[in-house]
Amino acid sequence: MTEADVTVIGGGAAGLVAAVAAARCGARTRILEHMDRVGKKILSTGNGKCNYTNALQGVSYYRGEDPAFVLPVFAQFGHEETVRFFRELGIMPKERRGYFYPASEQAASVLEVLRMECAYLGVETVTSCAPESIRKSETGYRIQTNCGTYQTRKLIFATGLLAAPKTGSDGSAFSHIKKLGHHFIDIVPALVPLVAKQSCFKALAGIRTEACVTLYIDGRAAVSETGEVQLTDYGISGIPVFQISRFATRALQEKRAVSAKIHFLPSLAREDVKKLLAERFYNYAHDKDCSQALIGLCNKKLGDVLLKESGISLHLPAKQMSGRQLERLCEALCSFQVDIIGSKPVEAAQVCAGGIPVCEVEQETLQSKLAPGVYFAGEVLDVDGTCGGYNLQWAWSSGYVSGVHAAEAACGRKESEKR
Ligand SMILES: Cc1cc2nc3c(=O)[nH]c(=O)nc-3n(C[C@H](O)[C@H](O)[C@H](O)COP(=O)(O)OP(=O)(O)OC[C@H]3O[C@@H](n4cnc5c(N)ncnc54)[C@H](O)[C@@H]3O)c2cc1C
Repeated sequence: MTEADVTVIGGGAAGLVAAVAAARCGARTRILEHMDRVGKKILSTGNGKCNYTNALQGVSYYRGEDPAFVLPVFAQFGHEETVRFFRELGIMPKERRGYFYPASEQAASVLEVLRMECAYLGVETVTSCAPESIRKSETGYRIQTNCGTYQTRKLIFATGLLAAPKTGSDGSAFSHIKKLGHHFIDIVPALVPLVAKQSCFKALAGIRTEACVTLYIDGRAAVSETGEVQLTDYGISGIPVFQISRFATRALQEKRAVSAKIHFLPSLAREDVKKLLAERFYNYAHDKDCSQALIGLCNKKLGDVLLKESGISLHLPAKQMSGRQLERLCEALCSFQVDIIGSKPVEAAQVCAGGIPVCEVEQETLQSKLAPGVYFAGEVLDVDGTCGGYNLQWAWSSGYVSGVHAAEAACGRKESEKR
């Protein structure tokens, strides 16, 4: 049984960068990954293109009980360091409105350069290796696994939470982390589609439309997002829905009332929509019926559902629409009520919210305050980012910082002295 200076459990985005950082500091580094290969999730990021960071950074892009926790980590390894790190490994950045992708537009390139760098640095990667027990030893920790026992001076957990569990983040490390004294904030899917109570969504499936979605929790507006909303047979999806979803899933888990209002003409104020409808229905509709009078203003299927939900016959001559009916249609277009009863499961989520409370971890080093010599990186900590490269940014940054500090604590050497 050879002793490693640093052992990283979990070879995902955070774990691979943690291993690179530790090995660059001269630490004998090992990755224990229970899947048959490392980095499976990276391959599916950004629709296979990997949106690996974003030029716009700030606390407002991160969520959790203490979003400002990310700041000292980013001060050590932030967006610029990430772009440089990957550039040095061969990833030419391609930027689109602040979103960074590899120029190859292949997530596989990002994984490949990380694997190559690990190999170059002599990181020992053990796949299909699942820890069975982790115990404190004289010099660090002893990890019993299905493929042998490993001794390590410092230990980094980069095991993710529960999102897309087929890629390996299946929660199997939670019991080990809990045995070391840590707690978990309840885990809920985030960046996930939301499920609606209303049956009318069956008729709306397949529609994509620019809209503003406002989330209401216990009747109070909580957060709004505008962008391309996808209407599906079960409810709502698309980037604006992803962005608000973690607030919805958390509130639902707390048994609070959750709803959303959709403004289907987000560039227009409600009064302007009312005027527009009055013009279309009373001045220009000639012999059109209500359904025909909405053609060209919004998606045809959507227009018909909005009329039905407002209790207006599709075939009512447009000119006969009453003032009240017009008011109801305006309400449906600007404030379409969606009762949210759930979200799609973790299988459909890009990330999860919750995890290890950041108050249990040192902010500068990511070392556990409860189990000396244990570090955490990535999604397993209670930090989740918005859509747009922020979750990978957190994985790279926290991976790098935990790797450097774990290695320095194990070997007493600074990264700068080694490189
Ligand atoms: C479809 C999809 C698209 C996404 N697109 C983007 C995007 O474009 N940009 C962005 O910023 N973010 C994106 N994300 C989110 C991003 O991929 C994650 O936030 C990030 O990968 C988390 O990294 P991690 O290393 O903390 O966890 P993970 O990537 O989940 O890695 C955890 C690793 O630990 C291993 N592991 C777990 N338990 C054990 C155990 N008991 N023993 C040994 N190994 C274990 C797992 O097998 C896995 O390899 C996307 C996610 C998904 C699912």
